[in-house]
Amino acid sequence: RKRTDYYYSDMMDINSKIALIEEEIRQTPYHKATEHYIGRLKAKLAKLRALAIQSKKTGGRFGFALPKSGDATVVLIGPPSVGKSTLLNKLTHARARVAPWPFTTLSVIPGMMDFKGAKIQIFDLPGIIGGATKGIGRGKEVLSVARTADLLLLMVDIKTRNRVNLILREIKELEIDLPVLVVINKIDLIKDFPQKISPDWLFVSAEKEIGLEELKKMIWQKLSLMRVYLKPRDKKPDFTKPLILKNGQAVTDVAKKIFSQEKKFQRILLWGPSAQFPRQEVSLTRQLKDGDILSFG
Ligand code: GDP
Repeated sequence: RKRTDYYYSDMMDINSKIALIEEEIRQTPYHKATEHYIGRLKAKLAKLRALAIQSKKTGGRFGFALPKSGDATVVLIGPPSVGKSTLLNKLTHARARVAPWPFTTLSVIPGMMDFKGAKIQIFDLPGIIGGATKGIGRGKEVLSVARTADLLLLMVDIKTRNRVNLILREIKELEIDLPVLVVINKIDLIKDFPQKISPDWLFVSAEKEIGLEELKKMIWQKLSLMRVYLKPRDKKPDFTKPLILKNGQAVTDVAKKIFSQEKKFQRILLWGPSAQFPRQEVSLTRQLKDGDILSFG
C-alpha cells in the first residue's frame, strides 16, 4: 500500500489533530511493516491528549501553559539577538531542574533567579517579532503562552528600541493583562547614558553587567513580592529562609503555606515593620508587610 505522507496544519486545534490521528490509526492495517508507523502515531496521540488537558487549563486558547515552579514566573520576550540569553545567563545561576517544556518543536528550560530568598523562574521564549499578532511565525503562540506568567520582561537593544511600542500594542491586542517591564540592552554601545523614559523602562548592559541589580529589584517590585520570616517558639527568627508572599497577603496565607491542613492556634505573634509593637498578638486576617516576623503557637 502506497502511503501518502500524513500532514496536519499547525493551526489546527488539538482536538481535530487527535481525531485525525485516531482515524489514521483505525485505517492502517496492523502488521510488521506498519508496526513502527502506528507506534509513532500512538506516541503522537498520547502527547496531543496531554496537551488537550493542558489546553483546558489555559481556557483552551492554546495548548500550552508554562510549567510553574518557584515563587513566581517571568517570561522574557523580544526580537532575536538583543541579548536575551546573555541576560538569562547573568540573572540565573543554573538551569532549573524541571522537565524540558515542549513548545512546538522547541524545548524551553527556564533559568532560576535567586533574589531576596525567592526563587523566580525565567523563561526565554523564542520567536517574538513585530507583527506577531498577525499570526506570523509562532510569535502569536508564544505571546499566548506568556499569558500564564506573572511578569513579562520585554527586551530590546538600543538598535531595536523603536519596536517596543509595536510589541506592546500586540501584547495588548492579545489581551495579555500582565505587568510589563521594558529592558533596553547594550547600553555600553552608546556614549551617554540615556535619561529614564518611564518608570517601567530600564537601560542595562547584560554583557557588561550594568544595571542588573536594579533590574532584579524592579522584577521583585513588579512581581509585588514580600518576605515573611518565621520564629520558632523561644528561638531566634530564621532569617535564612523567608516565606515568599504577594504584597497584601495575610497571616492566613502564611499558615496555608506552612501547615498542610487547617489548624487552630492559641496565639499568633508578630514582629517587624507592620507590628505596632514587638510581639503583637494578631489574627489570621492580619495583613503583612515585607520583613515581618511571625510566630505560631
Ligand atoms: P538573544 O538572541 O536575544 O538571546 O541574544 P544573545 O544573548 O544571543 O546576544 C546576541 C549578541 O549580542 C551576542 O553576540 C552577545 O554577545 C551580544 N550582547 C548581549 N548583551 C550585550 C551587551 O550588553 N552589550 C553588547 N555590546 N553586546 C551584547
